[in-house]
Amino acid sequence: MADSSKYDVIVVGGGHNGLVNAAYLAKAGKKVLVLERRHVLGGAACTEEVFPGFKFSVCSYVVSLLRPEIIRDLDLPRHGLEILPLDGTFTPMPNGDHLWRVNDHGKTHREIARHSRVDAEAYDEFGKAMQAMCRFVKPILSMIPPDPATLNPKELMKLLFIGRRFQGMSSEDKYNQVQLMTMSAIDFLDQWFETDVLKATMSASGIIGTFLGVRSPGTAYVLLHHYMGEIDGAFRAWGFARGGTGAISNAIADAAREAGAEIRTETPIAKILVKNDGKSGRAIGVVLNNGDEIYADVVSSSVDPRLTFTKMIEPGNLPEEFMEGVKRYKFRGSSGKVNMALDGLPDFKCMPGAGAHLRGAMSISPSVEYMEKAYDEAKYGHWSSHPYIDMVIPTLTDTSLAPPGKHILSCFVQYAPYKLAPGLDWDTEKENFGDAVVNTISEYAPNIKNIILHRQVVTPLDLEREWGLTEGNIFQGELSLEQLFFLRPVAGWAQFRSPIKNLYMCGSATHPGGGIMGAPGRLAALEILKDGGA
Ligand SMILES: Cc1cc2nc3c(=O)[nH]c(=O)nc-3n(C[C@H](O)[C@H](O)[C@H](O)COP(=O)(O)OP(=O)(O)OC[C@H]3O[C@@H](n4cnc5c(N)ncnc54)[C@H](O)[C@@H]3O)c2cc1C
Repeated sequence: MADSSKYDVIVVGGGHNGLVNAAYLAKAGKKVLVLERRHVLGGAACTEEVFPGFKFSVCSYVVSLLRPEIIRDLDLPRHGLEILPLDGTFTPMPNGDHLWRVNDHGKTHREIARHSRVDAEAYDEFGKAMQAMCRFVKPILSMIPPDPATLNPKELMKLLFIGRRFQGMSSEDKYNQVQLMTMSAIDFLDQWFETDVLKATMSASGIIGTFLGVRSPGTAYVLLHHYMGEIDGAFRAWGFARGGTGAISNAIADAAREAGAEIRTETPIAKILVKNDGKSGRAIGVVLNNGDEIYADVVSSSVDPRLTFTKMIEPGNLPEEFMEGVKRYKFRGSSGKVNMALDGLPDFKCMPGAGAHLRGAMSISPSVEYMEKAYDEAKYGHWSSHPYIDMVIPTLTDTSLAPPGKHILSCFVQYAPYKLAPGLDWDTEKENFGDAVVNTISEYAPNIKNIILHRQVVTPLDLEREWGLTEGNIFQGELSLEQLFFLRPVAGWAQFRSPIKNLYMCGSATHPGGGIMGAPGRLAALEILKDGGA
């Protein structure tokens, strides 16, 4: 059945990027329709009451990368966005010691000096060097990637802009930048620090969402990607959204609705309609799973390129070379999540009691060898028996998420490889994986098993089935160097357009990639408006 109303733009998917895309387009006066498959908005940035009374940020759980210009343009605080601080990272160690870095410079300096005086000095220098790197990269996050293969003066100007910025850095910063782009997180950190637990915990940011180990080249850049938030002018540090990460998506949705966008949930799209007039195709609307057709001048897809181009577009509509690029684009999910409802708080052997160390991130990353061994298992198709775990207890900051006296514990876990070894499958391994996570935590906080009321295990297969994240990759595709900037998602197609006229991409699979950033959604909207097709 054809829907009688026609839209300027249909946005495929109501994840936070699809919603940002819709909000900018609606604010520019376009008639916009967002179609989301799930019953809740937000995609991987969602809040759900998984167990009665317990609300979880089921997937993403902390925020920092959300672009300040989006917060401003969409007036998100007025629409309910509130960011609460997440102070510090606490790493318990098997020998009864710990490392606890907080936002207080003096305290962190003294804490690191307890492990190594040299490292305490180097930590300040490292911070300054990373800030310089971030200053270089940050404007790139807000730019449309250049196409280096063209002689178009506009594209060359963008390259020149980057070149000039690089030229403007000190020699040391230039060397650091090249090293960050090419080295492994550990090789990079080895140049600065000697304390094993410090390097292990810091290197963890380098492996998030990648199927790489802390010693794999390329992971130093991912470290920088995550460091970016720590100096962000808007919030400076990583934080919680009050109400969970779904509250961010809801605030964006609210802004979009206020600007006139229509948003429908439980409305999965089966196909994107393409009309072939002349030699190239043109997107003209979508077909829903129930067979209904809805028409629009522009279709903007916030799902990944594999879903968009191999599942939603009929074969034969796209050039072979482009499809080769789509096929080569790597997902290789490697992360899982274990969310728990707790009757109390974990009691760490190395720091008993309910102190401020429970309010920040708690990292199971006791040594570099531990981190690399976790990867070794994953390389051969097994989930890590002793994984890297990043834990937070948001209820210590936001009491609205659980009944009084109860808590929620969110555990981001690596590695949980999407592709398991022959003979293993995620449906049977799921709870074993959950047990491994609980057992690992109990080595540091033995009371954990006694205070678990409910447990939700999210495997990479669940991420694919339920959230539409292909191969369970949390960023809609790895943030590896060969898939960044003008190469994301396909070389020559990094400017949010596709070979099909009026079909755009606006999700995390486009520049600048994953995380609750909103940048792809915004940049794609600006390109759609520039083309004037809607
Ligand atoms: C486990 C996990 C932990 C993470 N932790 C963090 C974190 O702490 N901090 C952070 O910044 N980032 C984190 N991330 C990454 C971040 O959440 C994502 O990069 C980001 O939310 C992706 O947003 P998006 O809008 O681009 O895509 P998505 O969130 O993937 O949105 C795409 C939407 O499209 C919908 N869809 C799919 N198919 C269809 C269809 N056929 N029809 C209609 N709709 C469809 C999906 O349901 C989904 O809502 C995490 C991700 C995961 C999975």
